[in-house]
Amino acid sequence: MKRVFSGVQPSGHLTLGNYLGAVRRWAAVEQHQADALFCVVDLHALTVEHDPARLRRLTRQTATLLLASGLAPDVCTLFVQSHVDEHARLSYLLECVATDGEMRRMIQYKEKARRQQERGAGVRLSLLTYPVLMAADVLAYATDEVPVGEDQKQHVELARTLAERFNQRYGHTFVVPKVTLPRVGARVMNLQEPGSKMGKSDVSGQGVVRLLDEPEVVRQKVMRAVTDSGPGGRQVEYDRAERPGVANLLDILAACTGEEPVTLAGKYTGYGQLKKDVAEAVVEALRPVRERHAELCADPAYVDGVLRAGAERARAMARPVVDTAYRAIGL
Ligand code: ADP
Repeated sequence: MKRVFSGVQPSGHLTLGNYLGAVRRWAAVEQHQADALFCVVDLHALTVEHDPARLRRLTRQTATLLLASGLAPDVCTLFVQSHVDEHARLSYLLECVATDGEMRRMIQYKEKARRQQERGAGVRLSLLTYPVLMAADVLAYATDEVPVGEDQKQHVELARTLAERFNQRYGHTFVVPKVTLPRVGARVMNLQEPGSKMGKSDVSGQGVVRLLDEPEVVRQKVMRAVTDSGPGGRQVEYDRAERPGVANLLDILAACTGEEPVTLAGKYTGYGQLKKDVAEAVVEALRPVRERHAELCADPAYVDGVLRAGAERARAMARPVVDTAYRAIGL
């Protein structure tokens, strides 16, 4: 059976982008078709300024939301990254295989480092080395496939490069993983700034739909989404370059309904009805998640138990791989 690994950072409240780009597919498909591990990658949330108490809260909330989204602990392994030491152990070895230049070329590093500098904060060294830790997350489990949104594609490609380089230098140790993207929903954009992705750490709240937003809040955000004016007036066209706002709404609707964005575009003559339908589709998609989340919050001991058992299983899988890597490199 193929092995699948993916993660989500507890750096904010999960968004519709996380859900449509990654989590929904993990629950509906990956966990049933593969030996699947899903991880709340809390170490990654330390790469930018953070608050310790908030991080701890968000780690628990993220795990709870993953369960609420349908991850089932009897078919997949759900755990917290920092509970398994192997990630950090392997990361150091991979730092000795990666180069400084490779890290500086990562798009996400450049964007996040610029944002930190604009805020007058220092850029943490861990922000630069973050893709190496992510490579360790993936390689420690002999992962075949990494289901992620488009923004993570470059990082998974780096993990492939590092695995191949390590294998070539020190003998076959790692499985070389493949990235898999969803057919639709791979890149959900911010509703207010359709030029940038809907990110969970975005502070301007209006463009970001969160999984726990009340239906009224979801409706408000969608109805206020920026649309485009252009040569075609207010015509509904699927054109990501020229009409990114409308294309984003069509992508979201397509991801919720399973239809093609282009087919959907043909059904609408104006933005108003499109927005109403998107809002209702999103409210319906998130309803079961919100309901299940409320139930799980009433039973924190259950969530703790899932994470404890998950970490034990994960540790048992990662340890032999990481031990082999230590021996191969000469330690
Ligand atoms: P974020 O950027 O929101 O902090 P993470 O880095 O924790 O997200 O990523 C968790 C998963 O969600 C990854 O697979 C990532 O590719 C996916 N993802 C994040 N944002 C989006 C988005 N706007 N559209 C589609 N997928 C996304």
